[in-house]
Amino acid sequence: MRIVAIDGPAAAGKGTLARRLAAALGLPYLDTGLLYRAVGRLVLDAGGDPHDPAMAEAAARRLDPSDLGRADLRGPAADAAASGVAAIPGVRAALLDFQRGFATKGGAVLDGRDIGTVIFPDAPVKLFVTASPAERARRRWLELRGKGSDADLATVERDMRARDERDSARSAAPLKPADDAVVIDTSDLDAEAAFQAALAVVRDRLG
Ligand code: C5P
Repeated sequence: MRIVAIDGPAAAGKGTLARRLAAALGLPYLDTGLLYRAVGRLVLDAGGDPHDPAMAEAAARRLDPSDLGRADLRGPAADAAASGVAAIPGVRAALLDFQRGFATKGGAVLDGRDIGTVIFPDAPVKLFVTASPAERARRRWLELRGKGSDADLATVERDMRARDERDSARSAAPLKPADDAVVIDTSDLDAEAAFQAALAVVRDRLG
């Protein structure tokens, strides 16, 4: 199975890289963050608290693939709801089969927090994509500004650090590099340089 597992903190460039690798390899791509975002939204829709295990797990069980196309899965409220539901073991268990099932036809590129550690621990290619918190905050801020938001950089950085801290400190599938992951620090790399670095790893591992 040609599985390319890409993990890392928020705004490190995982999505851009994963999309390009998937296109280059002719494999489908799954942004697994959308699953947690959609579950968080379903809980908010129902007037619930994303940290409520029973509500969050019920939402994860009734998640439909069409929910991943919702237009309201980005932004500070969705970020916080996603990382709230993501710390609940029952939510993660409910989303496991969907993620594993996505890669049945020859392989896939998936990005998230636990792809190389939990979802596909035997993936032949594991990348951990990261960058300094200041650089990641700057990128997220530019992205938000580009969408018309007037968010300030300090707030974006504070929220991002808090989310990374929650994702890393939780006991269920915490954010961390797999032992056999190749770390790519994109702090000083543009998208093309990050892609070339990742492609070299993929060629080495997949032949
Ligand atoms: O990748 P993205 O920033 O869209 O993920 C949103 C949130 O979903 C993360 O902060 C994390 O809490 C959760 N997540 C996760 N495991 C994944 C993907 C995302 O816990 N594989």
